[in-house]
Amino acid sequence: MNATDPLALSAGEAVEAISAGLLSSRELFEAYRARAEADRAAADGGLNCFTWVAEQPPGEDQPPPLHGVPLAIKDLFCTEGVPSQSGSRMLEGYLPPYTATVVSALAGAGAPLLGKTNQDEFAMGSSTENSAFGAARNPWDRERVPGGSSGGSAAAVAAGLAPWALGTDTGGSIRQPAALCGIVGLKPTYGAVSRYGMIAFASSLDQAGPMTRNVGDAALMLRHMVGRDRCDATSLAFPEEIALPTGERLDGVRLGVPEELTGEGIEGGVLESFHAALARAQELGAEVQDVHLPHAPHALSAYYVLAPAECSSNLARFDGVRYGLRAAGADQLLDMYTRTRHDGFGAEVKRRIMLGTYALSSGYYEAYYARAQRVRTKIADDFRTAFEQVHFILAPTSPSVAFKLGEKTGDPLAMYLNDYCTVPMSLAGIPAISIPCGLSEGLPVGLQIAGPAFSENRMLDAAHAMEQALDFDAAAARV
Ligand code: GLN
Repeated sequence: MNATDPLALSAGEAVEAISAGLLSSRELFEAYRARAEADRAAADGGLNCFTWVAEQPPGEDQPPPLHGVPLAIKDLFCTEGVPSQSGSRMLEGYLPPYTATVVSALAGAGAPLLGKTNQDEFAMGSSTENSAFGAARNPWDRERVPGGSSGGSAAAVAAGLAPWALGTDTGGSIRQPAALCGIVGLKPTYGAVSRYGMIAFASSLDQAGPMTRNVGDAALMLRHMVGRDRCDATSLAFPEEIALPTGERLDGVRLGVPEELTGEGIEGGVLESFHAALARAQELGAEVQDVHLPHAPHALSAYYVLAPAECSSNLARFDGVRYGLRAAGADQLLDMYTRTRHDGFGAEVKRRIMLGTYALSSGYYEAYYARAQRVRTKIADDFRTAFEQVHFILAPTSPSVAFKLGEKTGDPLAMYLNDYCTVPMSLAGIPAISIPCGLSEGLPVGLQIAGPAFSENRMLDAAHAMEQALDFDAAAARV
């Protein structure tokens, strides 16, 4: 441990350094705050990963167990008195009167708010280019996207502007940016974590999770996030405490590789890293076998009916009356609604509202929404069958490494294909983690490990063993 450079410490190491009296929480907070602020104020726009940075360090007495290790938080988490805009003009400057449950839980455990991070508008996107506050950049190559929608959180952690960050994942928005930025990202079991205070995109899929430098930090953060919340009826008590992972070997662990997620459409360099990681897993003692997820190729089509359907309903509340933007110049109520939604929402959000409204309209409901729900059930069944044969399923996280800014903005379908490997797990509600497994063309590749519902402890242990064996060097991205 290097206590002289607080920025080199993982969150877990920083906790230890502070509790051993080698570092003060104020010093740590100030070091990150200064860097985050410098990036935000950079003449060239920096990484544009923060939409807001705390002005003051919190009080001196930050409670155990986290002792004041600062936390960056995706813009869409409501934080009392702090801009919470979900990357949208619709909520520009919106200061919520309350704080999301996970944010208060982490603050209560001693992780104060460092800043709010940039994201695709209402979490719709895979590149953070849909943000009303400008695109974020990838610290590995600033001409490239950091992924999305939690791209600001991923870029901040990868660049060393935050020790760790909170993201959200609806169809891949934690895992894919983690993969593209060379960090760890975990999407928990649906319901393991409260959604209260998260500005909603698709409520049956949205889930908050850690974005961190290593697997141990992901476990440490998740430990303070899980649990039943009276304010979220879909949340459940986690059946056990989240342990800090110690796994070094994979003896007796059966890993399934689905042909459907590891073939056509995945970049050669990504597949190469993926297969090298499988070989390492075998060296650690794992048995690797083929499994089938026959309906996984239909996941994307089902997702792009279900997620827009839910978003069209969730975003109906942005009408210029209750919060956020109200367009000027209207003299009729309907005109005010129309102008507000015209001015407040970006193109991708409008596209999804239209798709979702159409899919839910009475004449088409059966043909689209109900059918997509049936596909969703089949996908969940596929995973259940596969987990009778294997402990975990492995796949690449993203079909490609980070792409160039602007490369896919004109082609929504190409953008949607980024979610090919992550959406099946989202529809099934199961946990999945992405860890960096190597480089292709000098850019990070993510390995995705998915497990049955509430298998987070086992999944983190397996991910930890893989992380030790893969020995990925993330330092190249630190600024
Ligand atoms: N890229 C996917 C989408 O645009 C996933 C987004 C997310 O997980 N929030 O819907």
